[in-house]
Amino acid sequence: MILILQPEVVPESPAFADLAERLDALPGIQWRVHQEKGAQQVLTEIYLIGQTAALEEAEMAVLPGVDRVVRVSESYRILGRHRDDGRPSEFIYNGVQFGQDTLHVLAGLCAVDTPEHVERMMRALRDNGQVCTRMGAYKPRTNPYAFQGHGAACLPWVFELAGKYGIRVIAMEITREAHIEEIQDALARTGHPTGVMLQIGTRNTQNFELLKAAGRQRDMPVLLKRGFGITLDESLNAAEYLASEGNRNVIFCLRGLKSHMGDPHRNLLDFGHVPVVKRLTRMPVGIDPSHSVGTRHAGPDGILDVFHATAQGIIAGANLVLVDFHPDPAKALVDGAQALTLQELPIFLEDVRIAREAYAQRRALQRRVTA
Ligand code: PEP
Ligand code: MN
Repeated sequence: MILILQPEVVPESPAFADLAERLDALPGIQWRVHQEKGAQQVLTEIYLIGQTAALEEAEMAVLPGVDRVVRVSESYRILGRHRDDGRPSEFIYNGVQFGQDTLHVLAGLCAVDTPEHVERMMRALRDNGQVCTRMGAYKPRTNPYAFQGHGAACLPWVFELAGKYGIRVIAMEITREAHIEEIQDALARTGHPTGVMLQIGTRNTQNFELLKAAGRQRDMPVLLKRGFGITLDESLNAAEYLASEGNRNVIFCLRGLKSHMGDPHRNLLDFGHVPVVKRLTRMPVGIDPSHSVGTRHAGPDGILDVFHATAQGIIAGANLVLVDFHPDPAKALVDGAQALTLQELPIFLEDVRIAREAYAQRRALQRRVTA
């Protein structure tokens, strides 16, 4: 059960002390405070755990300082979408709003390689009106002899180039806790020219210690990939780990599932689950068409499978597209086979716009028939 306090009630308020006394007296109940700092106000919430089934909502609603009560019926206590749950689902990071109604494209390099390639990518993004990107510095690779990413050494110049081209958010995968501090240090040393969204990859979806570490820091949002060989419930619980440690600025990203039925794509596309995750949770839902499809094959209509997959996710309401581009895919050190080119960037963005417009029309149709 969650008690949402009146906006003026914070842990320092007299009403809070009264409330704390009443909660301490409840048998079999533990409680913890979470504060969410919005643009206008700080919202204080109290999570009750233990024998909450015995509590009456009406009785809790009249406790000192309490504004509303949300009965948590599903597993994902913080990120889940519960009955009568009017809690907001969007957040703003470094001036960019992410939510279940927004859409952002994070086009960029799978792996940072040379300053020249990074700069050409950033310039193309700016020229096409984009403020987000993806750039991997730490790459989890199947083959131990494959390029592992430039690591912390590349961070300062990547961040400076991002700042130069007005990029506000870079999705960057981390594979262990120390990477968080390396990113924070490099951002501080370069004067925060950009922001970073920590990406946790499909190979680490259930790396619980990494999830806890990324959840303990609240500076940077986290993009969590769905695990490629586990159930959706297991992946959503992994997202809840982040929130349970304090960071609820979490984006959930579908990226296809490992299955022999995934042939001829690298993974079996799961973008039909966009509305499912939006229904079960309040997280913005992303799609990664590059790592799902994994090739540059096109249909007989001439449209690349990566474009088709993207459109499928967007027409179902996806909120973020993480997609591999490279100025010279033949020279990419990682995943060149699936990368789109800079010439394809404006076409890709136009295709995204068309699919998003179709989604808006579908929503309008639904509103008309239910009005
Ligand atoms: C990536 O986005 O670079 C990546 C490795 O993705 P995934 O974890 O989905 O395989
Ligand atoms: Mn990749």
